[in-house]
Amino acid sequence: PNAKFTRTFVFPQPQQLDDGKENILMGSDRIFGFSTCVGKANVSSTVARKLSMGSSVPQTEPRGLLGTKHVQETERLETVSERDGTHGSQILVFVRLRPMAKKEKDAGARCCVKIVNRTDVYLTEFANENDYLRLKRLRGRHFSFDASFPDSSSQLEVYSTTTAELVEGVLQGRNGSVFCYGATGAGKTYTMLGTIENPGVMVLAIKDLFTKIRQRSCDGNHVVHLSYLEVYNETVRDLLSPGRPLVLREDKQGIVAAGLTQYRAYSTDEVMALLQRGNQNRTTEPTRANETSSRSHAILQVVVEYRVKDASMNVINKVGKLSLIDLAGSERALATDQRTLRSLEGANINRSLLALSSCINALVEGKRHIPYRNSKLTQLLKDSLGGSCNTVMIANISPSNLSFGETQNTLHWADRTKEIRTKAPEPN
Ligand code: ADP
Ligand code: MG
Repeated sequence: PNAKFTRTFVFPQPQQLDDGKENILMGSDRIFGFSTCVGKANVSSTVARKLSMGSSVPQTEPRGLLGTKHVQETERLETVSERDGTHGSQILVFVRLRPMAKKEKDAGARCCVKIVNRTDVYLTEFANENDYLRLKRLRGRHFSFDASFPDSSSQLEVYSTTTAELVEGVLQGRNGSVFCYGATGAGKTYTMLGTIENPGVMVLAIKDLFTKIRQRSCDGNHVVHLSYLEVYNETVRDLLSPGRPLVLREDKQGIVAAGLTQYRAYSTDEVMALLQRGNQNRTTEPTRANETSSRSHAILQVVVEYRVKDASMNVINKVGKLSLIDLAGSERALATDQRTLRSLEGANINRSLLALSSCINALVEGKRHIPYRNSKLTQLLKDSLGGSCNTVMIANISPSNLSFGETQNTLHWADRTKEIRTKAPEPN
């Protein structure tokens, strides 16, 4: 009983400790080695706070739990395999830092983001940038994700780490979705769509999908359909054949946009051109000519249908759906607390993103009612957020200190999204 144990311990973010019990539970999920015995009732916020501040557990509490053993706090990397449950039991959250833009350099911007150990993101503005221990104790300055991509990361690296596994899942009939989240100019469209020279996740996923299908069968068994739509100002539009707004309906497959073009895809080559054309159909705001609107969400859905034989040699049809989502700019739209959220609701800001933040909050808090119906985007994402689906979030951030507030806000939401527990995906 007197033995000293060295435990690795990932402590909750300081701001999560401030409002009591619930956050302790959230924190306890991340205490490796204790996750089965630490419960809400057992750890006082003081203990957790002390742990997070780097002191050892007091001898007297919490008895029978951490025992009277000292816990040596050791920095621990949270990686994909170490977070409890793999794909499906929670949303995997990644961060991608983009390179500093020329415009930012010209404006005298300094870099205020450091990515360390492939997982940890530090906001170094106004601090000694190598003093990571101190930054950890400051509110909202240190975050840890399933993986964090520095500005040197390639499109392929981002694709392989975040999405390749989901593509494999789709071929086994499991739905997956990936959404890019972040302020305007943070790199969402670059990550999702990319350029001809550096194609992004959407294109690489389809390429990979065709390669995997070819490896699996050459009998034309798999049929791939693409659809590409936009949610702008609470109207849903078809990006592949623009026209009248589409109506959302619920059917046995979930929420569908009635009349949406299903483009039958045969090869990768045509897809990039198709997507770029689709992107040109995205709504641009009158005041920002030439710029794709910062308030439009684009959703690419890739549906794979194929036939398999079951044990008694009956042919059954299977479907897997991959949704790739380039969200509208998150600036101003996501308030970090409910009060600001409500006051913003009256203002003319992106209703779909507000609804998304409400849904994330409700899912994190384990509420029974999740307000998906509040917006078109959340209706469309219903089976991607809380439903039975492999879900990945890529939070895009700029390195510039001029975007510090937006970056911090993005990281806050990304951090919160990590706490959502989804149902394990079942094959369709
Ligand atoms: P968003 O869609 O979030 O508004 P964009 O993807 O359009 O932002 O990115 C803004 C600018 O930064 C674009 O010119 C884009 O080409 C560039 N950019 C973004 N991410 C990267 C990256 N990882 N590497 C190189 N350039 C990037
Ligand atoms: Mg964009």
